[in-house]
Amino acid sequence: MPVPAEVRELSIYEDVTEIRHAIAAARRDGKRIGVVPTMGALHAGHLSLIEAARAECEFVVVTIFVNPTQFGPQEDLSRYPRPIAADVDECRRLGVDAVFHPQAETIYPSDFKTFVNVEDLSNKWEGAFRPGHFRGVATVVLKLFTIVQPDVAYFGQKDFQQQLIIKRMCRDLNVPVELRVCPIVRDTDGLALSSRNVYLSPSERNSSLVLSRSLLFGEKELHAPEANITAIVKVMREMVGSEKGVTLEYLIIADPNTLEEITEPQRQMVLLVAARVGTTRLIDNVLVLLPHLAEHSRIE
Ligand code: AMP
Repeated sequence: MPVPAEVRELSIYEDVTEIRHAIAAARRDGKRIGVVPTMGALHAGHLSLIEAARAECEFVVVTIFVNPTQFGPQEDLSRYPRPIAADVDECRRLGVDAVFHPQAETIYPSDFKTFVNVEDLSNKWEGAFRPGHFRGVATVVLKLFTIVQPDVAYFGQKDFQQQLIIKRMCRDLNVPVELRVCPIVRDTDGLALSSRNVYLSPSERNSSLVLSRSLLFGEKELHAPEANITAIVKVMREMVGSEKGVTLEYLIIADPNTLEEITEPQRQMVLLVAARVGTTRLIDNVLVLLPHLAEHSRIE
């Protein structure tokens, strides 16, 4: 029987040895350890991952760390929101057992020299627009995995390329962690929740709805008989590109395992979009399944 949230004790750790001890004790008690890696500024998308972890694991760890190595020099590292007190309250409310909130120097001592790079996949799409981003992500996630040694880790489909890269890293390096990918949580108007949405002015927020609108359009068109991918992508790009204040970075229909663009409909497809709305960079995606088509590739 799961212990109700109100009788659980949340502990907050900054220190690697201390959280390791707490987790080791939970493991000795036979508890399944779940981890939800986040950069904080928790919203309902993060909370859905925590709830998924809570449902499957007896000991849930949420990591809150704004990881400097995944930000480019011109990016928003210094202004990224850090409402730690509110985040801790949310974790307590959801019955999280441990929050790991390390200092940057704890994760990256001054002589830190070891990075993980998932080749090829890290250079496409997001990686092309954010050089070095996935090297930082893979490195910090592997570090968090070796600190927490979870049985299961929870990621969002929202960062589609990220979950693919983490899966590949775990497979390639024999990292013994089960990965779960949870669906995108959206606002009622369709905007995918993101910690960066707080940067949007009311009019920018309105403009940003073109991302989910274009994905919805693409998804619907792909279900039509004899769907023409090139034509669909063209219309979607025009939709996003013509929205006031929105600069399209990329919009593709791709194979969800390789992220190679496709030109013919296949059983599983992913529609990926990234755009700047004012100075805020937003990403979104949708997975499309056409069950009547033959299997090209399969999401593991
Ligand atoms: P972040 O704090 O942005 O690094 O995100 C932490 C985790 O939450 C990642 O696995 C994200 O994919 C996931 N996440 C972010 N936004 C959403 C969302 N709207 N729905 C579901 N998961 C999300």
